[in-house]
Amino acid sequence: MTKIPYDLNDLVVMKKAHPCKERTNIFKIVRMGADIKIKCQSCGNVIMLTRANFEKNLKHNLTQEKPD
Ligand SMILES: [Zn+2]
Repeated sequence: MTKIPYDLNDLVVMKKAHPCKERTNIFKIVRMGADIKIKCQSCGNVIMLTRANFEKNLKHNLTQEKPD
């Protein structure tokens, strides 16, 4: 399995949906450091994950995927 590349401000699809009203699994990467912060694109809440957890839950990168 190849690793999905990701960068600050990318829109990503996570395996787990945010347990808010819309239950979207689309998030935006808002901080990349030792930990990753992603912002729910439905409710705007920011979640902090370790890089390992982020990469484990990352399903797609909508910004970097080429539609071909
Ligand atoms: Zn949410």
